[in-house]
Amino acid sequence: MTGKSLRFKAGKVTLLLKNIPKVDKVLEWPAIKVFVEEHPRWMIVQAVREALNQVRAEILAGKATEEVLAEESIVERVGLAIEKLNTLGLRRVVNGTGVVLHTNLGRAVLPPSLRETMLEAAFGYSTLEFNLETGERGKRAVHVEELLCSLTGAECAIVVNNNAAAVLLALSSLARGKEVIVSRGELVEIGGSFRIPEVMEQSGAILREVGATNRTHPRDYRTAIAEETALLLKVHTSNFAVVGFTTEVSTEELVSVGREASLPVMVDAGSGTLIDLSAYGLQGEATVGEYLEAGADLVTFSGDKLLGGPQAGIIVGKRSVLEPMKKHPLLRALRLDKVTLATLEGTLRLYRDEKQALQQIPALRMMTLSAEDLASRAKSMVRRMRRGLPKSVSLKTLKGFSQVGGGTFPLLQLPATLISVSVDGLSSQQLEQRLRTRVLPIIGRIYQGDFLLDPRTVADQDVAEIISALKSLADF
Ligand SMILES: *Cc1c(COP(=O)(O)O)cnc(C)c1O
Repeated sequence: MTGKSLRFKAGKVTLLLKNIPKVDKVLEWPAIKVFVEEHPRWMIVQAVREALNQVRAEILAGKATEEVLAEESIVERVGLAIEKLNTLGLRRVVNGTGVVLHTNLGRAVLPPSLRETMLEAAFGYSTLEFNLETGERGKRAVHVEELLCSLTGAECAIVVNNNAAAVLLALSSLARGKEVIVSRGELVEIGGSFRIPEVMEQSGAILREVGATNRTHPRDYRTAIAEETALLLKVHTSNFAVVGFTTEVSTEELVSVGREASLPVMVDAGSGTLIDLSAYGLQGEATVGEYLEAGADLVTFSGDKLLGGPQAGIIVGKRSVLEPMKKHPLLRALRLDKVTLATLEGTLRLYRDEKQALQQIPALRMMTLSAEDLASRAKSMVRRMRRGLPKSVSLKTLKGFSQVGGGTFPLLQLPATLISVSVDGLSSQQLEQRLRTRVLPIIGRIYQGDFLLDPRTVADQDVAEIISALKSLADF
């Protein structure tokens, strides 16, 4: 750019900045006064400030022309700012990614049959810590713990805030200041910041790594056992798989090493399923009951992964091992709130009948949908969408895959039928962005240039929302 045009540009920026209207002045505009009738004044004032800040930022970025100062453009910004102030930051989205346990989108969707249960727990008094028989103080979480024992065959159970908390509590209680032996191949990082070595450090336990990343043998554990050893730990490698030349020590083998040395064996099962999902194409995940049967002294797992319930951490196992944890001061800091306890109990009750669990727990239902069901779901969704949409929206179905998510079944590609959507005049990236930034966001994904929605995770009642979103983009 020449010196002259730079000076010209700087002059223009100054001029535009000078012409930004004052807040008080904007509040007097008739189009803004209309908002005052429907929204509190503080909100209008904040929205006007927000709109003018945006205008200023755009001018300073050198991107703006006189049009940013046009009254209707500012009024539109104020309208959008009001809409934003009226919408919770944490809000519902339509999950079109096909990832059933999407950690960023809230993992498991609770069974709809628990709506009443949840509301009652939240908006009324309850038997949270009250024993109806004696009329005296009762134990929190007894109902959930009893259910967990009967569903897994465990002697004892504890529930906490999430599985990371379960691991922290277990290690603090069993191995503070002592050594915990774990295979190098199992030192996992799960999502954001959960790293087994770091949680161990917080618990005061000392990590003793054995074996190589791809191969660990029972003798590696035997050699590492010393005076300071308090626990043998097996961690489910959840979100990754080591393939090729590998050897893993099975739970049974680890248990026999533990028995020889009189050491407890803990399994961090990660997702932890209560039912065998192999009949539904989800192979290779041992149930929590199987870990216990294999002799594990305690097993920890999440409430909102394969279980399909609320965020929680669950510990099941031998009474002698868990009893001290119930008295551990950390438990108070990690305990569950009443709404979660109620929904966790409700979810677990559904597992008393496996068929009922598969039908009523959305995570299980979505994961176990057959390829045929998904294909017909995709077709009927497209038919419905076609009827409600103009020609400028193109829809087609194609074969692809969805993932379970939540750090489960890392290698598994669930066969799926996907819907590819395009809108005339919009690139896939623009379409993805517009749908994502609505008040009710619709989250899809782009694969090989196509914008895709995966019907597996789209609820029936979401289809109308998708139609109306696409319609307004097409009309634009
Ligand atoms: C997911 C996972 C965790 C953490 O569980 P949260 O419930 O998210 O705290 C811990 N360990 C393993 C093996 C996991 O897969």
